Amino acid sequence: MPRLVMKFGGTSVANMDRIRNVARHVKREVDAGFEVAVVVSAMSGKTNELIAFVEDASKLHDKGEYDAVVASGEQITSGLLAIALQEMSIPARSWQGWQIPIETSDAHGAARIESIRGDKIIAGFTAGQVAVVAGFQGIHSSTGRLTTLGRGGSDTSAVAIAAAIGADRCDIYTDVDGVYTTDPRIVPQARRLDRVAFEEMLEMASLGAKVLQVRSVEVAMVHKVKTFVRSSLDDPDDPKPGTLICDEEDILEQQVVTGIAFSKDEAQITLRRVADKPGVAALIFGPLADANINVDMIIQVVSNDQKTTDLTFTVVTADFERAKAILEKHKDGIAYETLQGATDVVKISAIGIGMRSHAGIAARAFKALADKGINIRAITTSEIKFSVLIDKDYTELAVRTLHSLYGLDKA
Ligand code: ASP
Ligand code: MG
Repeated sequence: MPRLVMKFGGTSVANMDRIRNVARHVKREVDAGFEVAVVVSAMSGKTNELIAFVEDASKLHDKGEYDAVVASGEQITSGLLAIALQEMSIPARSWQGWQIPIETSDAHGAARIESIRGDKIIAGFTAGQVAVVAGFQGIHSSTGRLTTLGRGGSDTSAVAIAAAIGADRCDIYTDVDGVYTTDPRIVPQARRLDRVAFEEMLEMASLGAKVLQVRSVEVAMVHKVKTFVRSSLDDPDDPKPGTLICDEEDILEQQVVTGIAFSKDEAQITLRRVADKPGVAALIFGPLADANINVDMIIQVVSNDQKTTDLTFTVVTADFERAKAILEKHKDGIAYETLQGATDVVKISAIGIGMRSHAGIAARAFKALADKGINIRAITTSEIKFSVLIDKDYTELAVRTLHSLYGLDKA
């Protein structure tokens, strides 16, 4: 029998009516002859509420207990959906991560899946049973403790389970009907894409598109899981196909730029008058790396006096204060004059595998942004994307400008 994984996010299971609606989507696929494993998130807002409890209990809480608390949201929805399915005469049972088991690393709060056994779920299929799996959670086998996969981790649970049970497809149901060329709330002309290449989706997710957890796209890419993003708000009897994430060979009409992503989650740090000598970059970025702080865009200005230079880079906002504190601590060793920081910045990125074979794509953007009077603070490029850092106030204008520049506006 063909096999399917269906994943439903927090808004799709936000209350009992929505859960019953999810059950109708599941019933449609069961009736169509699929063996179905459903992966659910917690009800929307639930995980935030649980995290707030933990933080209230202690700012410096035990990470293992954090996982014990926040994993519970998915336990609730998995049980409720199993009951809702049973009410529709569909045999179903819930599965917690440890029961399957979904084994992970011990990085509490951001664990990585290491292995998943599919045999129990498959035995359930043989007995005619739908598996309802609590997303986001796993177990670290040697300590036996619960783990969670990081925010948005249910997407990764779903794709990894699809790979483990050899599913023909993984459908990620959410509150939008697919992946868009950019955020439709910012650009009403944004278009839904029929297909996106794994690599493009990986960049889009990493660069700010919120639709899928980055890690889930990596897993889909490695295991070649045919993944659809589609809407749970559709009428269960009249579903739309959504967006297929697939190999680039499966995309017929290739655009040069496929999407524009943006992230307000960036902070800029500039060190003024840093000594211009070998080893300085290591002195700056070494301690940041030791503290697990990822540095993204880096620009070093060529010095005009041969003695000092200015160095600018970005970190995610959550690491900003920590990064500043570390650099201040190492001020004498690094030997810089002043540290300046800014959080009122946004990173705008254009993504497309067509960039590999077309020159001058980024140059057009620099010109278009300049024509609108938008100043670029930093630039990075790679094979299939480029990013610019600009003032946050210009987010909408810049996204719109690039979206129409690359012909992405809907007709
Ligand atoms: N409930 C978790 C979160 O809010 C996991 C998920 O929804 O994917 O991050
Ligand atoms: Mg999500």
